Amino acid sequence: MSQVDFVFPSPAQVALPVAGSNLQAPVRRVYCVGRNYAEHIREMGGDEREPPFFFQKPTDAIVQDGAVVPYPPCTSDFQHEAELVLCIGEGGVDIPVERAARHVFAVAAGIDLTRRDVQVQARKTGRPWEIGKSFDHSAPCGTLHRVADGVLPDSGRIELRVNGEVRQQGDLSQMVWSAAEIVSNLSQQYRLFPGDLIFTGTPAGVGPLDPGDVVTASIQGIGSVEIRVDDR
Ligand code: MN
Repeated sequence: MSQVDFVFPSPAQVALPVAGSNLQAPVRRVYCVGRNYAEHIREMGGDEREPPFFFQKPTDAIVQDGAVVPYPPCTSDFQHEAELVLCIGEGGVDIPVERAARHVFAVAAGIDLTRRDVQVQARKTGRPWEIGKSFDHSAPCGTLHRVADGVLPDSGRIELRVNGEVRQQGDLSQMVWSAAEIVSNLSQQYRLFPGDLIFTGTPAGVGPLDPGDVVTASIQGIGSVEIRVDDR
């Protein structure tokens, strides 16, 4: 095979550490679920009878545990959303719910960072959410923890603290779509591949962040991810 010569260096492969090993998981795509906890749908003024849906963030929006995140441009309402993250290990299409667990390699704690004012404005004007959700540094994700024996977490406390103070609190059992249902639903829309991440939605209590804030999302039995918001 002939060597490809690029006109400029190809981007670095985004990857996340895997707990208990020296290995990293290469990240392919970053999918997110919108409106997956009833109480959060209500706080956003939405209709909880509407089914959840998917959107994407760019892969290079991933932020490693412990990193500093710049306060993003184009917003004065930069918000946190603590979420369970799934990492696909075996790809597929039209995956049945009862087989979904075997396609998930690992889970992690993540934060779906959001330019809320811009997202709400986009929603009002019928434009895509992209500018509110898919910006640089918008997807902090912690260390991946392998799924033991093909069992996906279906309960466990999920919480987010800002400077040590609890802002979001919920339980994975409150998800409208379970982890298995999310994998099954998404695989009907896209062929899934190893390294695809899925942020699975946030419980109630979302709110604004300020420069200097230390933000920690944690999930019982899974782990945590922490970032610091840098100055504007
Ligand atoms: Mn979210």
